[in-house]
Amino acid sequence: MPNILTFDIEEARHMNFGGQNIASDPAGLARGLDSILKMLTDSKAKATFFIVGDLIEPNKDLIRRVANAGHELAFHGMSHKLVYNMSESEFDADISIGKKMLESISGEKVIGYRAPSWSVSAKQTPRFWEILKRVGFEYSSSLFPLKTPLYGDNHAPRFPHFRGTKHGKILEIPVPTARFIKNIPFSGGAYFRYLADWERKILEYFWNVSGCPIVYYFHMRDLDLEKSSPEARLMSRVINYWGNARARKRFENLLRYSKFTTISEALPILRKFDSTGAK
Ligand SMILES: [Zn+2]
Repeated sequence: MPNILTFDIEEARHMNFGGQNIASDPAGLARGLDSILKMLTDSKAKATFFIVGDLIEPNKDLIRRVANAGHELAFHGMSHKLVYNMSESEFDADISIGKKMLESISGEKVIGYRAPSWSVSAKQTPRFWEILKRVGFEYSSSLFPLKTPLYGDNHAPRFPHFRGTKHGKILEIPVPTARFIKNIPFSGGAYFRYLADWERKILEYFWNVSGCPIVYYFHMRDLDLEKSSPEARLMSRVINYWGNARARKRFENLLRYSKFTTISEALPILRKFDSTGAK
């Protein structure tokens, strides 16, 4: 069974913790994305790219190349604003505009969404799934089943499940976690960078017994493909960049020894984990 590879395509200025006042770096974005595309082509891996909306227009050709290489384009918010800080109408407009922009580039339907910084929960954003479904999204990869100061929900379900809405059901695919008293993420971001290799492999083992594919998630900064900005505060650099050279090596190993596909291709498998009976 292949696992699932995802990237959040954004710049340092989009970071919700410590990204303020950092300048845009279009050349850096192009370089990083090119490196990712090359690594994926070399290892015959496919991935889902969650793209921040304000990068679409200035990088059309680059994003078209991602789609043409057989990867999935999905949406990650127009400016990476936290969903729980948006009004419902603002969120509705944000995802409607972004979906159309991406579709006009690839000519394909865009069905996936990931909330910036996992900023949704049943309590904070109760109508999130209903609005997503009404606008035409088929899945969300947005729930983080561990509470942190910025995001997350300890009570979120750990496995893919349907959310029933009056427009039909929509699949939510939470970040994989191993359960040891608390839910522990391991498959991306700071967790992938901080954990020792053997620690991550134990957590992967516990997740794998469920039979559910692992959804890995990376930013360019996690893989040393974007240099830490000198404007970023020390705490932000630790949270967003620390361990990224080591993570890059591990990522290359993953590509060497695992098969990867997109979320949309894995949907038939992911849907099987639903036990909610949502209509
Ligand atoms: Zn993001």
